[in-house]
Parts: sequence; C-alpha cells; structure tokens
Amino acid sequence: MSDPETTIINTSVNPKDPKEALVIAVTTRAIFNLEKEHEIFLTKGKDEYVKHQQENENNSLEQGTAFAFVQAVQFVNKKLLERNPEEKKLFDVIVLSNNSPESGARIINSAKQHGLEISKFCFVSDEDSTQYLKTHNVKLFLSADRKDVCNALQRGVSAALIFQQEIQAPTNQLRVVFDGDAVLFSDETDRVFREKGLEGAIAYEKSMESVPMGEGPLKAFALHLGKIRNKFGQEDSPIRTYLVTARSGRDMGIRTIKTLRKWGLAIDEAFFMDGAPKGPILSKIQPHIFFDDGLHNIQGT
Ligand SMILES: [Mg+2]
Repeated sequence: MSDPETTIINTSVNPKDPKEALVIAVTTRAIFNLEKEHEIFLTKGKDEYVKHQQENENNSLEQGTAFAFVQAVQFVNKKLLERNPEEKKLFDVIVLSNNSPESGARIINSAKQHGLEISKFCFVSDEDSTQYLKTHNVKLFLSADRKDVCNALQRGVSAALIFQQEIQAPTNQLRVVFDGDAVLFSDETDRVFREKGLEGAIAYEKSMESVPMGEGPLKAFALHLGKIRNKFGQEDSPIRTYLVTARSGRDMGIRTIKTLRKWGLAIDEAFFMDGAPKGPILSKIQPHIFFDDGLHNIQGT
C-alpha cells in the first residue's frame, strides 16, 4: 500500500538489515538546530518556510541536540565492523520529518555535509508522523516535541524527549543513562511510594525481593543495546551504560540488581542516589541520552 503523503529516500550505501539492526528514528528538529526555521513556519506559514528552506538549500544546518548521539552511534558501528566486517547487529539511524519533500533537500544536504550516516529520510506531510515507526521497525524514537513522544509511546515504541543541554558528550563513546522506576522497570514501586510513603515502599521491596520487577517503557531498547554492548570488553568499549536511580542501594537495591540479572541486562555502572539530586553525577558521566521519569510523566498525560 503506498501513501501519497509520504516520501522515503534511501541514502545508505550499505543498507542495514532492519530485522537485525537497532533502528533509531530521530526527527530533523532533534538532529539539527531548526529553531529559526520553526519560528518562520509558526509565524509566517508553510509556504514561507518552504521558500526559506529552498533558498538555503546549500547552507548546512547547525548541529542540534541529538547530533552528538548520532555521531556516537556511528562510531560504535565503525568499531563493530572493525571487529567483524559481517556484523549485522548495527545501529541504523533514520530521520523522520514533518517537512515536505520540497523543503527536505536542505536536510539531506546538511546530513551529507556533516558526514552523518542516515539510511533513510522519511518526509511525512502528516500531523502525526509516529504512525510510521512500527513499519520501519523502530526501537527508539527521539524527538524534541513532547506530543510526538506521547504518540510514539502510545504506539508501543520506546521514545524519549530530547532536551537542549549544555553537556558536550564525547564522540568516541556512546553513553546512555537509564533511570530505574518507570523507565527500565514498571512504576509499581512508585505507586506504592505514592500511596504508602517511603516506609511502605521499602517494606514492599523487601517482601518482593525475589520477584523481578515489571518491565518499563525502555526495557526492550535497553536489552537490545545491552546485546551490542556485550560484544565489547570492559576496557575499550565504545558503549557504556549506566543506571542512575533515586532508590537507596541499601533498602531498595537488591531487587533492582536481581531484576537486571534475571533479564540478562549488564549495566556498566549503577548509582543508587537515595533521593539525592542526579545533576552532579550526570554532569560527570556526560551522557548522550538520559532516560528519566520525564517519560513517565509524558505517558501519564
Ligand atoms: Mg523513576
């Protein structure tokens, strides 16, 4: 079935196997800084926006928030192929855009000029572009638009909101931080905490110690990422994964560790913050993406 509203442009020299690859969809506004352009779209309308993009077709767009993430993922692919030229479990980045194809040339040109490996550009002239995520086997969707992220989660696709951040994440190691409750795990303990307070939550965790926690919205992605992570050793891995949770390690850590073990998900470093702010540890880690309860809040809306 073809959809006249959608244009898909394949640009990959070596197409990746979508059944094996970890497909990540990123919106154009997350990869590139399109704030000025978005403003034109909002204030002057679509025609002016298209005109602006066409006139600037060869002016490369500046880097956006997810740019460093795409570069780091590309670096991991390079390392995977160095290890094994036949490797199929690679990252595959596709771009999902609400731009029409006539305004999309600037985006393709910018990706080329920046040396980004994007296998597909999907220009979807549709209010809700997330309906195409499942078709493309997308395991993670990154967007700067809260509504996009909600829509993706409702479709059962792991998704995260990209925030503008000052952190200069490194390009030679992909760093991913997961929160525990309501992210990797279900929000069952959060709910007990809200109903019965900290004492109640600690008692609940103790009674449930040998029962693995339910799965949260990012479990599937984390497992897939973990499999890629496991191809590398401790010393020079181009991927590093972290758990940064508000839980206390002493009272609520054991069930966390047992659940991860049960899932077969190895995490490089785990921080049990016992309610302390996560900011300082995050600025030390400098992650490319940090999945936190923002997701839980987004899902709740
Ligand atoms: Mg949480």
